[in-house]
Amino acid sequence: MIPASFDYVRPQSLEDALAQLGEHGDDARVLAGGHSLLPVMKARLADPGVLVDIAGIDGLSGISESEDGITIGAMTTHAEIEASASVQGRCRSLAEAAAAIGDVQVRNRGTLGGSLAHADPAADYPAVILAANAEITVAGADGERVIAADDFFTGTYETALGAGEIITSVRIRASAARGSSAYLKAAQQASGFAVCGVAARIALDADGAVERIRVGVTGVAESAYRATSVEDALTGAAPSAESIRKAAATAGEGVDALDDFYAGADFRRHLAGVYAARAIGKAWIRAAGE
Ligand SMILES: Cc1cc2nc3c(=O)[nH]c(=O)nc-3n(C[C@H](O)[C@H](O)[C@H](O)COP(=O)(O)OP(=O)(O)OC[C@H]3O[C@@H](n4cnc5c(N)ncnc54)[C@H](O)[C@@H]3O)c2cc1C
Repeated sequence: MIPASFDYVRPQSLEDALAQLGEHGDDARVLAGGHSLLPVMKARLADPGVLVDIAGIDGLSGISESEDGITIGAMTTHAEIEASASVQGRCRSLAEAAAAIGDVQVRNRGTLGGSLAHADPAADYPAVILAANAEITVAGADGERVIAADDFFTGTYETALGAGEIITSVRIRASAARGSSAYLKAAQQASGFAVCGVAARIALDADGAVERIRVGVTGVAESAYRATSVEDALTGAAPSAESIRKAAATAGEGVDALDDFYAGADFRRHLAGVYAARAIGKAWIRAAGE
């Protein structure tokens, strides 16, 4: 399929990119890896008049590590995230989510910022971003602001990004000393997207009780969400396989689940419980052993 015709610009600075977006308004779209935007344009579900390619802008790509966390540029590809020792060491679930995305071609071109901005309800990163309590830095005409993960995903293909704003980076705090994370998904066999994906991030205290836990779920509802009932049930107590299974079973409870020919709503809610138990169990074992 062929998209409608469009103009293409490749600014060399963030300021120029923001100016292009400001000048063309609703008619312009940011182009990152193009692995979500171009299929949508080919299907004629979007027909922007101008694509503002941000690949030429210095400083939007790469992973930097500090004592308390990592900062990942928006243009960093899934493959770079998957292969990064910093990401594997500081937020293992993010490396696991990156590795689970599509195929090699998609992972070599697709970017973290593009995936977050696209906000596909079946995308992998949103579960991890929620579980990791990440901070998303965006630049716009009025300067820079930071959006908390909990506020970022507002609906199906909808985010808290304002008109003309560009995601520049994502900041994730390192796992606690006795902490770790895990991401697991049930993939749609044809597309690889998540029918259900769960990220868990856990921090244990000196006695092995759960000090903090966050659980993000993607693929199940119209937008990724936190399974707060699971988090509440496990916080403060020493976990066991049984307590994790029991708490995790509520991960899909009361959720207005997606329902399609591939997976019905009840099945998706069931998967949320099963994958929450598996992801939490994996994160817990890693945290206790690391
Ligand atoms: C065959 C195939 C399989 C896939 N499988 C999976 C999968 O299993 N799991 C999964 O999670 N994803 C999957 N994807 C999607 C893939 O991860 C995309 O790379 C990603 O969703 C979009 O990233 P991108 O860099 O390609 O963004 P683009 O396609 O360039 O842009 C996507 C949207 O984000 C906007 N945008 C891009 N960057 C920014 C930015 N920095 N700031 C503001 N707005 C921005 C664009 O304007 C556009 O609206 C798949 C895609 C394909 C083609």
